[in-house]
Amino acid sequence: MAASLPDVDSVKAKALRAFAENFGGQAAVCAYAPGRVNLIGEHTDYNEGFVLPMALPMVTVIAGRSHGGKKTRVLSLNDVVGATNEFEFEAGSRADIKPGEPKWANYIKGCIANFICDVPAFNAVIVSTVPAGAGLSSSAALEVATYTFLETLSGKKPEKPEQKALACQKAEHDFAGVPCGIMDQFISAMGKEGCALLLDCRDLVTKQIPMLHIDNYAFLITNSNAPHKLSSSAYCERRDCCYEAAKMLGKKSLRDANMNDILALTSRNASDRIVKRARHVVTEIQRTLNAAVALEKGDFQQFGRLMNESHDSLRDDYEVSSKELDSLVSAAREVDGVLGSRLTGAGFGGCTVTLLRKDAVDKAIQHMKAKYPGTPAFYIATPSGGAREISVN
Ligand code: ADP
Ligand code: MG
Repeated sequence: MAASLPDVDSVKAKALRAFAENFGGQAAVCAYAPGRVNLIGEHTDYNEGFVLPMALPMVTVIAGRSHGGKKTRVLSLNDVVGATNEFEFEAGSRADIKPGEPKWANYIKGCIANFICDVPAFNAVIVSTVPAGAGLSSSAALEVATYTFLETLSGKKPEKPEQKALACQKAEHDFAGVPCGIMDQFISAMGKEGCALLLDCRDLVTKQIPMLHIDNYAFLITNSNAPHKLSSSAYCERRDCCYEAAKMLGKKSLRDANMNDILALTSRNASDRIVKRARHVVTEIQRTLNAAVALEKGDFQQFGRLMNESHDSLRDDYEVSSKELDSLVSAAREVDGVLGSRLTGAGFGGCTVTLLRKDAVDKAIQHMKAKYPGTPAFYIATPSGGAREISVN
C-alpha cells in the first residue's frame, strides 16, 4: 500500500506541541505550503515554455511566535542530513542577514531577507511531510511556508501571490545557491484544490485547470530512491543545446519554434544531439498545452497518452532518464488500469508519476515493487491547495 499521509491538522498539532515543549508557551502564528509534482512539461521552463504542476497533500508547516528579543531561532523536526536541526541568528534588519551554516537555514533566512518589510525576531518549529531531495520540492514548500508565516507575523503581504513566489525563488537563488526555475514556488503559493496549474514560463501568466472527473482516477507518485545523478554539467549541456538550437533558428527561445524548424535544423547541419534536444522541447511544449485541454475535458485517456509520450521523449531525445526510472515506468504501464506513466522532475533519479484508475492502485504498487530492483516509496497524490495561514486553535 501507499504510505498514508497525516493530514494538515495532525502535522499542525505536532508543530504546536513541539513549539510548546521547546520554546514554552503557545505558538501564535501557523502556516503551511505544499510540495508539488509536475504532471507534464519537463525541461520546458528555461525554454520559455509551459509546465503543468499540481500541489500535493504533502506539506511543510511552520508554527511560531515573535518574542520581543533579538534572536530568531528555528527548529526543524525533520532529519536534516549532515546538520543540526536547529539554528539561530541575530540581524538588525533584513538587509543584514547573510547565508551561512547550516545550509537548510538559508532557505528560511533568504525568505526573511527577501520579505517586503523587516519582521520581528521569532521562535518557530517546522514539520514537513514532503520528502526532502526526492524531487517533490520540499525546498519551495519550506520557502513558501516561511513566507506565508512572515505575512501573518507582520500583517503585511505583497499585492499578488506572484510576488511572493518570486521572492521565494530569489531566496533559493541568492541564499541557498540553487539556480531553480519558477515553477515550484508558483504552484506551492498558488495551488488550488482539484486543479493543476498551467504556467507560462515566458510571461508568468497562470491558469487553473480544473480536473473534471478526477475522483475516478489517481496520480501515483513513486520515489525511485535512487541517488540523483543530474550533475550540473549534464543540465548545462541540455540547456546550452537548446540555446544553440534557438540561435541557429534565429529565435528568441525554442518556445517560438515548431516542427518545421526542427527539420530546418537538420538542413542547417545541426548535430544530431542538438536536433534531438530541440525536438524534445518543441514537442513537450505542445504536449503540455494539449494535456491541459485534455484535463479540463476529463479526457484522462488522452492525458495518459501524452504522459507516455513525454517520458519516451525525455528518455530518447533529451536523454535524462535512468534505468531505475525506465524500469518503474515500464512496470507501471504493464498494469491494467494505468493510463500513463512518466518520470517527473529534471530526471536521472527522483520520482515517476503514474495516472491510473483508482481501482488499479494496489495492483500497480504490487507490480512495480515486484519488478523494480530497488526499494521504491509510493504516494497517492490528490490535487491539493496552495499555501495558507492556519489557525493555531
Ligand atoms: P527537493 O526540493 O526536491 O526536495 P532540494 O535539494 O531542492 O530537494 O531541497 C532539499 C533541501 O531543502 C534539504 O536538503 C534541506 O536543506 C531543505 N529542507 C527542505 N525541507 C526541510 C525541512 N522540513 N527542514 C529542514 N530543511 C528542509
Ligand atoms: Mg528543490
